[in-house]
Amino acid sequence: MVRQAKITATLAIAAGLILMMCVPGASAASPLPDPSRAGVTERLYRLDCGHSLANDESVWTPGKNVGRSIEFSSTCWLIKHGGEWLLWDTGVPEATLNDPRGWSTLPKLIVYHLDKSLTSQLAEIGLKPGDITYVAVSHTHGDHIGNVDLFPEATVLIQRAEYNWIHSNNGPNDNVNQLMALARKLLGTPKKLKLLDGNTDVFGDGSVVLISTPGHTPGSQSLLVHLKNSGFIILSGDVAHSAENLQNDVVPALNTDRAASIASMEEIKRLIATYKATIFINHDKKQTDTLKLLPAFYD
Ligand SMILES: [Zn+2]
Repeated sequence: MVRQAKITATLAIAAGLILMMCVPGASAASPLPDPSRAGVTERLYRLDCGHSLANDESVWTPGKNVGRSIEFSSTCWLIKHGGEWLLWDTGVPEATLNDPRGWSTLPKLIVYHLDKSLTSQLAEIGLKPGDITYVAVSHTHGDHIGNVDLFPEATVLIQRAEYNWIHSNNGPNDNVNQLMALARKLLGTPKKLKLLDGNTDVFGDGSVVLISTPGHTPGSQSLLVHLKNSGFIILSGDVAHSAENLQNDVVPALNTDRAASIASMEEIKRLIATYKATIFINHDKKQTDTLKLLPAFYD
């Protein structure tokens, strides 16, 4: 009996290992790529995915800038890898396009505007939504997942912790519960959903790696991209809202976990050092305004 149980257990472990090897990115986290051996991906395009005006900057810089208004950028990124395309975040919902009243996730706090649709920007380089292979979302706030439904044929890449969180409906306050309800509505039920458990090497060559950076939300992630001429670039997600916040480990009031937020910012700073990487901070309008915009690209 004991021997039988041992054999069964051994077989189960072997089957598990085979399964993990056959399904890239499923369950087990990927190791981080060796900086000297990581593959490269061909192109990185920035898309304008909206901008927003908030009436109290101190929500993002607790104790400082009370009552001061601030403008944020919303950025999506498109990555070409061989014949495949990965879209990183989907921005403010297209229904907002040119609506002077804008759109809000938390009406008393922030209002978003959208001047260009995702679809029209993709069309500028000859792409249709159906050409997008992967839609990877940094996290489930409405300004990042506003247009997931435009890509029903794409595989949606999201951390399992994030997906489970928005379906748990047990946020610490009304604001967070409101954001979770909106997230469930905007994310919907993607046909091809891939739930991730930690760092994930999307193409298996170290060129595009999702980095688990929880804290802003429970399953937030960032993206490490390796390009031939530009080197390593980190797309922040909302691990930090500005270079100053990243530098000083400043945690916004709405983040779900303060300690995890600081650990994730420290991890990103370690990665910047290891990979001599440049970081593009999604909502940092000052920086975003200086970056190339589609049809221009980084290679
Ligand atoms: Zn966010």
